[in-house]
Amino acid sequence: MGSESEPTIHQCECDICRTDTDLATAQHYQQLNLFLSRLNEPQRRWYVGTLSQKLGNPSDRQLSLITGLDEKTVRRGRQELEDGLAGLPYDRQRRIGGGRPSAEEQDPELETDLLDIVSPNTAGDPMSSRKWLNCRLVDIQERLAERDHRVSPPVIRRLLKKYDYRLRANVKEREGKQHPDRNRQFEYVHEQETKHQTAGQPAISVDTKKKELVGNFKNPGRMWCQMPEEVDIHDFPSDAIGRAVPYGIYDQQYNRGTAYVGQSAAHIGCGPRSL
Ligand SMILES: [Zn+2]
Repeated sequence: MGSESEPTIHQCECDICRTDTDLATAQHYQQLNLFLSRLNEPQRRWYVGTLSQKLGNPSDRQLSLITGLDEKTVRRGRQELEDGLAGLPYDRQRRIGGGRPSAEEQDPELETDLLDIVSPNTAGDPMSSRKWLNCRLVDIQERLAERDHRVSPPVIRRLLKKYDYRLRANVKEREGKQHPDRNRQFEYVHEQETKHQTAGQPAISVDTKKKELVGNFKNPGRMWCQMPEEVDIHDFPSDAIGRAVPYGIYDQQYNRGTAYVGQSAAHIGCGPRSL
């Protein structure tokens, strides 16, 4: 939206205008909307707020029809005025022709609620601050809507990136079929983690890394050598001498980590032992 583009003027949708656009009231509403089209967003809702103050609450719906502003916006404008516009910007030039304010500027609680919704669902690499999400943007959008935030998936994606979240597209490929209660596990673990950390108790993250077959198998890295090493064609575990199971143990609070290498195929029990 450039500064040279003409502002769109809302066409009033009230009964009067639908009956006869030549009526004085209808013409007045057209003038009102022409005027509003030259104001920036806060100014627009404040002006409509003054009309709402004059007419009383039941008129919010009517004012919404006339001006095209959301009923909520009308209410907000009125409340901001009643609060003496406390904490709101003085700068008249702000935002005029400068594009719309961002979603988080318009909705100060959006980011807090988003992070709240998203944090129990964070899987991911405990060593990096990069967090992986295991839910879809539309799911997040839905849960935000439950808290009265209306935002589009692109906005959610932008905000998540801002907080170092990345979307993992191939969760299923990497982790197999998901258990229906998988999400509850994450939420439970997160809850315990927070509880213990606030109580000053350690919370560590134990994590199995990629299992390496020890033996003569092809490894997907590249080496500098003159002749390619001869490797078995198939990586059957039965051909392996043993199976190396690396464990990572990481203390999030004190930022300390240790790696252990276990050797059993039945790796349950190996982790606790290395602790
Ligand atoms: Zn009208």
